[in-house]
Amino acid sequence: MGATLFISDLHLSDNTPEIEAGLYAFLERESDMTRLFILGDFFEYWVGDDDDTPLSRRVIQQLRSVSDRGVSLFLVRGNRDLILGPDFAGQIGATLLSDTTVIDLDGVPTLVLHGDTLCTDDVEYQKMRAVLHDPAWQAEMLQRPLEERREFARGLRNASQEKADKDPANIIDVNADAVSEAFSVHGVEHMIHGHTHRPQTHSTSEGERIVLGDWSATEGWCVRSENGRRTLEQFSYS
Ligand code: MN
Repeated sequence: MGATLFISDLHLSDNTPEIEAGLYAFLERESDMTRLFILGDFFEYWVGDDDDTPLSRRVIQQLRSVSDRGVSLFLVRGNRDLILGPDFAGQIGATLLSDTTVIDLDGVPTLVLHGDTLCTDDVEYQKMRAVLHDPAWQAEMLQRPLEERREFARGLRNASQEKADKDPANIIDVNADAVSEAFSVHGVEHMIHGHTHRPQTHSTSEGERIVLGDWSATEGWCVRSENGRRTLEQFSYS
């Protein structure tokens, strides 16, 4: 059996041709993987599965060929692509997962999630998240014209950038109590997530938490689970 791989936080957009090429090279190099989990913020923003951009068409084509080869794809939404939906998942042959899922990883129950729900110190963000994740709000949003949705997404992105520039670094990291709660609520000792852009393996008495990194113009990150071992890896595209 091949490896199970995890990636997140590529933040793909029209401005990230290097990351996009890095993704395709990664998919090619890891062609013997068994499963690939994409843990959110795959796109910098996503305004609806009906937004038929050249970028989304290219990505769909590449991921479709991966799932056609027999690789099982799983998709978790991030805060940037929170309205990625079943149409997109269907087009790439992926299973869309809910915000938190316990998977069987080589016999070990492992919680996989984007990670933003662990950042409970960011009260303002969590309030906004509750609104954005309300199904009624999302349904209403998806009725609006695409250009209006794009405008809204740009506004959110700018606000989030300004906030990141202003706030102390610890605000956007995970909250220790939220991590403890996630371990206990889900009854697991292993967790993999992204979002914070602080790639690291944390081992405590509660369990092991591996945090994926965000992809840059030259390097990407993945977690590899193979033969009962999990490793956090950084790699260059070239
Ligand atoms: Mn995120």
